Amino acid sequence: MPTQPCRVLTGDRPTGALHLGHYFGSLQNRVRLQAEGAELFIVVPDYQVLTDRDVAEHLAERVEDLVLDYLAVGIDAAKAVIFTHSAVPALNQLLLPFLSLVSVAELHRNPTVKDEIAHSRQAAVSGLMLTYPVHQAADILFCKAGLVPVGQDQLPHLEAARTIARRFNSRYAPGGSPVFPEPEALLSAMPLLLGTDGGKMSKSRGNAIALGASEDETARLLKGAKTDAERRIAFDPVSRPEVSSLLQLAALCQGRDPHTVAAEIGDAGASRLKAVVTEAVNEYLRPIRKRRADLATDRAHLRAVLARGNARANEIADATLAQVKTAMGMRY
Ligand code: ATP
Ligand code: MG
Repeated sequence: MPTQPCRVLTGDRPTGALHLGHYFGSLQNRVRLQAEGAELFIVVPDYQVLTDRDVAEHLAERVEDLVLDYLAVGIDAAKAVIFTHSAVPALNQLLLPFLSLVSVAELHRNPTVKDEIAHSRQAAVSGLMLTYPVHQAADILFCKAGLVPVGQDQLPHLEAARTIARRFNSRYAPGGSPVFPEPEALLSAMPLLLGTDGGKMSKSRGNAIALGASEDETARLLKGAKTDAERRIAFDPVSRPEVSSLLQLAALCQGRDPHTVAAEIGDAGASRLKAVVTEAVNEYLRPIRKRRADLATDRAHLRAVLARGNARANEIADATLAQVKTAMGMRY
């Protein structure tokens, strides 16, 4: 089977509403690549909710809300393959050979797994958490994605997927045409948007501004955002990460340079900065929020998008699994 360089895959756990970090870290690139003709795959990894908590709550509603966010930001649902991991059984069969290609020491070393363990709601680390990069590799490699638009936190996982692809090819297709391409990570201009507490903005950490939040809620959340004690506002990501992340957010919304935004605020301090960011975000998101509200009235459409995506993902995953089994000599 030929490799598919124009296949793009990425995904978001159904742990809450998509936020500004998703938008500027990944969604914008997905929309752009799709408009440029790439075949876009979006996995909603529902089993992966259980990497850092005991129970996955409100799954059906959260999955539908993710689809709603995708459509609201401009993803073309008629062309994209949006699917849930649990609806594609072949993904879990890919997991076993992939697990055989990584060492336990490598899994323990993965910095993103370490960070997620640090923020986990569980007292003990589960096998699902430790093997996170491996099931994610199955989610990426099954469709032979060439490009994966992700935030910075995902780079170690992407590296693991590349390693698994390379090792599978050299072990089971030596000298022949590779079964899996090595997927490339695609970072955006904002690969790590900080949340209102100064840590990575995350759905599960109570520090996010959701795309679907109201304008008032956005203002309230940004008012509480962590900054620093210096009055003069300047763009300096290394020594002033929180202020700089806010400046960059305003700049991205307004299509301007963060230094210019900072210079305009100058000595007016953090409260002016927050007012500027609030206005920029609310203005930028207004059409997206309007579209979101319109689309939210038709939940059946969201479910139909998923059903179609699940069917297509199954076709592709079954074909890849058949190829993997053949390469491994499992034809009986
Ligand atoms: P959770 O807290 O449940 O892990 P999350 O907000 O971290 O949720 P994920 O579903 O884990 O979101 O990540 C989905 C995608 O969005 C990944 O590609 C990730 O790198 C990207 N992403 C998440 N948060 C940010 C952020 N703050 N800045 C840039 N990209 C982000
Ligand atoms: Mg995350």
